[in-house]
Amino acid sequence: MPVRLRDDLAALPTYVAGRTVPGAVKLASNEMPLPPLPAVRAAIERAAEAGNRYPDIAVTTLTARLAEHHGVDPARIAVGCGSVALCGQLVQAMCAPGDEVVFAWRSFEAYPIVALAGHAQAVTVPLTAGHVHDLDAMADAITPRTKIVFVCNPNNPTGTAVDETALRAFLARVPSDVLVVLDEAYREFVSDPAVPDGLALAAEHDNICVLRTFSKAHRLAGLRVGYAIGPAELAAALRGVAVPFAVSAPAQAAALAALDHLDELLADCAGAVSEVARMTEVLRSQGYEVPPSQANFVWLPLRDRALAFAEHALENKVVVRAFDGFGVRVTAGTSEEVDLFLAAAGSFGG
Ligand SMILES: *Cc1c(COP(=O)(O)O)cnc(C)c1O
Repeated sequence: MPVRLRDDLAALPTYVAGRTVPGAVKLASNEMPLPPLPAVRAAIERAAEAGNRYPDIAVTTLTARLAEHHGVDPARIAVGCGSVALCGQLVQAMCAPGDEVVFAWRSFEAYPIVALAGHAQAVTVPLTAGHVHDLDAMADAITPRTKIVFVCNPNNPTGTAVDETALRAFLARVPSDVLVVLDEAYREFVSDPAVPDGLALAAEHDNICVLRTFSKAHRLAGLRVGYAIGPAELAAALRGVAVPFAVSAPAQAAALAALDHLDELLADCAGAVSEVARMTEVLRSQGYEVPPSQANFVWLPLRDRALAFAEHALENKVVVRAFDGFGVRVTAGTSEEVDLFLAAAGSFGG
């Protein structure tokens, strides 16, 4: 007898990961181009020595450290196997079948997957012509069945951010029992002071959950650590639905060591921010439309030329992330990698 999969799984979108091509530079996954710091690698190695033992299921030390770092009660924190896992846990903890999850499109490609996998209904709201979240339209999209609204700030893949005034006006329109998830995976790259720190807003609203990750600024994408900060009851629910032991001991140790060396990591983020400024300026001078980015990547809304552009970049030994019919996202690499990319962009004829 064949096994009976869910009927609706055929509609599940596939997460398209940035490709790794031998001999080519990878600017496709918004990673930092530098490896983890030596002290972080040493911490990973020490943790590996106890690899026969299960990790701390409650992630106690890292949670306490994050609580101290952000000045919040540890009860408000849930650490997960990357913030993408926490996106799924949020849906599991909050949505009954048919409940609605609202998010912008395009935005983070995990949102439709976790919504559908969690039996929720994905409600997408197009970005504005300027490639920014249309917060008015998102507030309009909320119904009595809406449980969660994801606001990716800055937005992946467009790099655009909403400012404090716009976000506060939006929050004033969201019913108090609807959770607003501020996905701040790129917070460390934000340079515009008008873009609010979600944690400051979360201190004032008990329907906000902020997601942060160690995958980008902290250079630990391969280790898988992210965290949520929200109301204590929500954090407890997120821990409750988690896969037990999802955050490995090397991952916990690496995150702690990264926090010990945060200043150094943030200095390198500033380098990525200046590369983004350079990419934006040069690409615009080459004739490309480039929305202003507050993240470590730029967005080229090339629409039906997206795949051809990515193909051309690959011929020039640069892997970028194309979204067919929409555009191309390019991560800031080292200066040499960016030079290689900009030369390729300059010679694109399609
Ligand atoms: C990269 C990214 C994350 C981080 O995911 P992890 O699972 O922590 O690696 C979360 N949200 C967005 C929008 C991202 O781009």
